[in-house]
Amino acid sequence: MKKAEPNPNANRNIMLLTYVVLAAFLGMMGYFGYFLQIKSEEVVNNSYNARLDRLSDRVLPGRILSRDGQVLARTDVGEDGEELRVYPFGNVFAHVVGHSSRGKTGLESLGNFYLLTSHGNLLEQAVNEISGRKNQGDDVISTLDASLQQAAWQALGDRRGAVVAMEPDTGKILAMVSKPDYDPNPASLDISWEGMVEDAGGQSQLLNRAAQGLYPPGSIFKIVTILEAMREDPEHYREGIFDCSGVFSHEPYSIRCYHGTAHGLQDMEQAFANSCNGAFAELGLGLNLSTMSQLAEQLLFNAELPLPMAYSKSSYAMEEGAGDWEILQTSIGQGKTQVTPMHFAMITSAIANGGMLMKPYLLDRVVGESGEEVKKFLPESFGSLMTAEESKELTRMMARVVAEGTGSALRDAPYQAAGKTGSAEFEAGKETHAWFTGFAPADNPKIVVTVVIEEGGSGGKAAAPVARALFDQYLQQ
Ligand SMILES: [Zn+2]
Repeated sequence: MKKAEPNPNANRNIMLLTYVVLAAFLGMMGYFGYFLQIKSEEVVNNSYNARLDRLSDRVLPGRILSRDGQVLARTDVGEDGEELRVYPFGNVFAHVVGHSSRGKTGLESLGNFYLLTSHGNLLEQAVNEISGRKNQGDDVISTLDASLQQAAWQALGDRRGAVVAMEPDTGKILAMVSKPDYDPNPASLDISWEGMVEDAGGQSQLLNRAAQGLYPPGSIFKIVTILEAMREDPEHYREGIFDCSGVFSHEPYSIRCYHGTAHGLQDMEQAFANSCNGAFAELGLGLNLSTMSQLAEQLLFNAELPLPMAYSKSSYAMEEGAGDWEILQTSIGQGKTQVTPMHFAMITSAIANGGMLMKPYLLDRVVGESGEEVKKFLPESFGSLMTAEESKELTRMMARVVAEGTGSALRDAPYQAAGKTGSAEFEAGKETHAWFTGFAPADNPKIVVTVVIEEGGSGGKAAAPVARALFDQYLQQ
């Protein structure tokens, strides 16, 4: 029998078929890569898209880590293939890391696209795809410092309120605590969910007080009042002398200093350090309400904030022509003014950073399964809130608050802190909300901390020690 000669046409056909299959395969791989890198962002960002579910059907969500490498959220897979999102720190990171069952919040929402994107080997991904196995999603490294977050959470204790810490020269959010909190682990969330949504106990546990809680600022607002006075008369604004008897009378109104303390003779810098309400109420009566309103807007009152999370807008309502009562109240941070702790942390951060506000951010970088960096987020400036000279003046005065005024809780610290306390009245017969906002070290700021404690009493006694716990923890590292 004659052996068949190799048929050159058949060979050519086989080669052609190979090329066609190869081209189709490359095309598929190409589209697959394109989908992973580009298209999927559109799909995932539309969070109610049904295809989102399909993406999470194909990818096992990555982990959320703190900047010091602690696991803040991970997905465990049981033997039955059941996936469970686990939050090892429970309540400590509740609002800022968020939850992923019953809707996504916090970093779970912010990082969702990256957590559901895989940068594993493309061939491996294709094989997984065909065999129905899930790809491993990328890990998200946040800017949060786990030790600092824990220090803040412990320092606040069982009191209601919020703590924010950020790096003034980058905008990195280092810690963000809100209390009362909740356990984001799914089993616990299932039990507490309805009660929290209905808010039966009036605790508003789901509210992230750090960014969404609106409070009267009390005396931390004197930073704004003194800045306005500085702008109107840079040469002489400090020189006015006020004689405080504990109550400032401006008929028919009167303004009391905290607990009726008589501060005696005070120049404006001393009045700022000792938080003399009378001196600031009188100062306010002489200010230009039109430029003060412009200053408030420049400091982002009544404005959208550059924040990567749900937040409330702070409000400032005093306009030219306001009555004396409104002026007296607004100048000392009472009246209609409302702020969030996060907003005041941003103002304080600008003071600490030569007037320049860096946009606060929470996502530092994204890394693939094998540890390679996929994406890095860089600091971005928002713009100047004040001049460098103004920030320097405010820093000097805020350092004096600590050195000789109401910030005594920080006086013997091994670093020089700068800050302002506040004790904000919000309802007759109730304790004031305690505030502190400041930074350390004063001459080379590394960290800004803003604290509010609801019905905490005096800012100096209740809030400043919480800030100190954070400064101590962070600056000893
Ligand atoms: Zn006084």
